[in-house]
Amino acid sequence: MESAPFADLVTLIDQYDYFLFDCDGVFWHGDSEIEKGFSALRHLQSIPGKHIYLITNNSSRLRETVIKEKLKPLGGEDFEVPLDQIYTSAYITGQYIRENLIKDDAEASIKKVYVVGQQGLKDELKKAGIQVINDHTNGWAPSSDPSMSIEEFSSMEVDPNVVAVVAGIYHDFNYRTLCIASLYLQLNNATFLATNNDRVFPTHVPDRKCPAGGSIVAAIASQCPDHQKPQFMGKPNPQIFDIIKREHPHLKDAPLSKFLMVGDNLQTDIKFGNNCGIDTLVVLSGNASLKQALAAQLSDDKDSENGKPTHIIPYFSYSQTLKFD
Ligand SMILES: [Mg+2]
Repeated sequence: MESAPFADLVTLIDQYDYFLFDCDGVFWHGDSEIEKGFSALRHLQSIPGKHIYLITNNSSRLRETVIKEKLKPLGGEDFEVPLDQIYTSAYITGQYIRENLIKDDAEASIKKVYVVGQQGLKDELKKAGIQVINDHTNGWAPSSDPSMSIEEFSSMEVDPNVVAVVAGIYHDFNYRTLCIASLYLQLNNATFLATNNDRVFPTHVPDRKCPAGGSIVAAIASQCPDHQKPQFMGKPNPQIFDIIKREHPHLKDAPLSKFLMVGDNLQTDIKFGNNCGIDTLVVLSGNASLKQALAAQLSDDKDSENGKPTHIIPYFSYSQTLKFD
């Protein structure tokens, strides 16, 4: 297995036309670029007939903010990815709610959601025309008390128009937040939508992985009535692929064999590619180790939570023949 397992970027770019990318662990860790990732992306963009789409399970930012806080600072001020080629789990969640839970303007004027997540998630839902009950622009302010007594819990007023609890990464998550989410699930039978189920995300320190949105989802899921389970909006749910194809009609007739999903996470990115019926490339610059990637590639267990990668590469700019600036 010495040099055999790794694909070469030149060959991959030749083979595929439509590249779906995860972001964290592929192009950046926090505020640091992963080796030459943006140079490789620029190269790909410069080739006629090649198309890129960014799909992140991170729900904490508006799509505009992904451009402002990540793509421009790391890729350069002149680096461009159109807004409609960026898909966050927050955006996908908004689309899902408008199609399934709050279908028209009449419903949108009444029904609301409770969000356990960062302001970017709330803002993305509001852009989809969804009322967020705990948004500061509605006069809501977070309590300074992170705890909640049994007395307060037992007598707290619950808005009957809250139809969904939406959860993602939330840096201020506490017991009070959990109690309020629990009340909406118990009393309103609210639908529980999870932006993602990522347990951890990588940091620039190899042996330190940070709790991700899935850890908060798991805490809230423990409060669900027996019949109620979280519905996961982000990868590996293939509905994202349907939304991308719907919003980019030229993709409808593109052969699946020309798509490649690129990501660092076997359970989300690679499983997503498998669920969509397209080839996948796992990079080793984030979550998955070489050992895990090889084991998943050799496995025939379709029930495994790990997806089966088509290709493995150390990082998305790895090439034996092409040198990036
Ligand atoms: Mg990732």
